[in-house]
Amino acid sequence: MENHKGIERQALQEIDIAFNTLKKEFKGVRIDKILFSNSMKLNRIASVTIDGNLKITLKLNKNMLSTISDIRILENNPIKSISPKEKLIDYLRHEFVHIKEYQIAIEKNTSNGIIDVEKALDEIKQSKYATEIIDEALNSCGLQRNYDIINYKISEYACLNDSEAIAEGYSNIEEDNELCNAIKRTLKKKWGVNL
Ligand SMILES: [Zn+2]
Repeated sequence: MENHKGIERQALQEIDIAFNTLKKEFKGVRIDKILFSNSMKLNRIASVTIDGNLKITLKLNKNMLSTISDIRILENNPIKSISPKEKLIDYLRHEFVHIKEYQIAIEKNTSNGIIDVEKALDEIKQSKYATEIIDEALNSCGLQRNYDIINYKISEYACLNDSEAIAEGYSNIEEDNELCNAIKRTLKKKWGVNL
């Protein structure tokens, strides 16, 4: 983890434990760089990006995760526009779905060890593989795709695009949410995620 000066030791440990659990859940996941950032948007806990060389960076918001008490404040103050979450790991789980999606796109565009970088990045931009997941999940619930359904069954943030829809659905902690459960099942089946 880079730029972790000033982060309380206990907070670092808790973040590390969450990462270790998620690395088992998302087997084979590769993150090139994890860094604490001072310049993230308000309310953004973490974010992931992939660059033109397919390098994956996970950024953590230094202003929200510096101490154990920051982490508890986050956990005890649900954000209305996102799906219900309880623990720090639930927020990070959302980001791991994005990372997994990047890796699926890379895998699908690799043949004989050669990656079609441009096509992989394009498919990531289009949320191509996330769309397959959400379509199958909606279908298995007999639901139509529309803004109201995604908003009501997952979250407002999930309406942004299909990548956010599956990340939000998968990291939702509600046990009896039919659509989110279908997303979890589909990710398990198609991407080998091990929740
Ligand atoms: Zn996201």
